[in-house]
Amino acid sequence: MIYFSTNKTSTPVSIKKATLEGLAPDGGLYVPSGVPGFSLPELELLEGGNFRSIAFAIAKKFVGGEIPLDHLGDIIDSCYPFETPLVELEKGTFIEELFSGPTLAFKDYGARFLARLTGYFASEERKLITVLVATSGDTGSAVAYGFQGIPNTRVVLLYPSGKVSRLQEQQLTTAGGNVHALEVQGDFDDCQRLVKQAFVDPELRELLTLTSANSINISRLIPQSFYYAWASLHLKAEYGMENPVFSVPSGNYGNLTAGVLARMMGFPIGHFIAASNANDSVTRYLEEGRYEPRPTIATLSTAMDVGNPSNFARLRHFYNNDYRAMGSDITGISVSDEDTTAAIRDIYNRYGYIVDPHTAVGFHALEEYRKQSGNRSPGIVLSTAHPAKFLEVIEEALERKIEIPERLRVVLEKEKKANLIGTDYRELADFLKHLDR
Ligand SMILES: *Cc1c(COP(=O)(O)O)cnc(C)c1O
Repeated sequence: MIYFSTNKTSTPVSIKKATLEGLAPDGGLYVPSGVPGFSLPELELLEGGNFRSIAFAIAKKFVGGEIPLDHLGDIIDSCYPFETPLVELEKGTFIEELFSGPTLAFKDYGARFLARLTGYFASEERKLITVLVATSGDTGSAVAYGFQGIPNTRVVLLYPSGKVSRLQEQQLTTAGGNVHALEVQGDFDDCQRLVKQAFVDPELRELLTLTSANSINISRLIPQSFYYAWASLHLKAEYGMENPVFSVPSGNYGNLTAGVLARMMGFPIGHFIAASNANDSVTRYLEEGRYEPRPTIATLSTAMDVGNPSNFARLRHFYNNDYRAMGSDITGISVSDEDTTAAIRDIYNRYGYIVDPHTAVGFHALEEYRKQSGNRSPGIVLSTAHPAKFLEVIEEALERKIEIPERLRVVLEKEKKANLIGTDYRELADFLKHLDR
């Protein structure tokens, strides 16, 4: 399998190069030259399989040529030692819980696979890879814990001082070992600017092999298709239901793009709902065919506050820029903060189940879609984070205390380790130049 850039001017590359580079040199996003398909007999064989066997079958098709298969199997096993539960709220309505990883959000699925693949390719190249990430929260923690202890890699995270939650800060600053946290006395845009500057600093590039780990990396996208494939097959094997509608709480649209990829591979998926908050650039595109990104609006579902989603270029690529074709597979629904809070309450009152604000957006969008379309297919809402990650919003909506899981409490008790820097690029460059080699 080779990978080419959505901007089409860079030379096509192997998965190794695409993984280590992240973004293509022409500024485009890497996409596979063709989406591998699963035949009906192949799907039947996988139907009774567990999550890891399905993940392995998919990974084999995308990266199998570049990694010995027994090693790829080990990578999959060490990525996903946790469960991916499909919870039935009522007949035909499911929540797929994607928060059983170490940072309690779905980004663990992509970050852990990317980390192990990067480590493997880096050791093959006899290089030490430095992953540089600017984060406003969830991505950074998944990357920190994904790369923790992975040989031939180290991570430098930049986060805005005082602008992430206490829990997020603990997750960013306690991984230790090969993970370094930089607390920047500025905002998220300062962090991003500093990282961008480092990537184009010739002196630094002489010294270090830099890469990024945000959701534009194709090796973060591929593993996100695993849980769509798994849920669609498990639904059939366990409940005798087929072709579900997936409701996907969306920000940068990496998650949804991975779902589209799973469907193109042949997994039995009926339809997608792109559930957004007030940041509705893609929702409007699906309605009008015009893409007009707008400045970001702050909402309760903070991880989805994205005005100009980075994975949208890839999504368009898969639909040949045809918004009608995209619209026949994907319905965009935007959900207000008011409806988000109402959904948190409603789900708790009806099912005794607690969802986080992002999952609540997905649930409300599924109900809205069913109302508008009359569609009676089984529905699966992707639950992208554990409710305890958004304690304040949930406790206010439900007017009760909620329990913090053990895994989270452990992180809260660890000692924070971060270096404080200002917004002057020389401070970052100085830090990076003095890292051990
Ligand atoms: C990142 C994130 C999202 C958005 O996912 P995208 O792939 O960027 O669309 C939704 N919910 C949570 C909790 C997240 O952390």
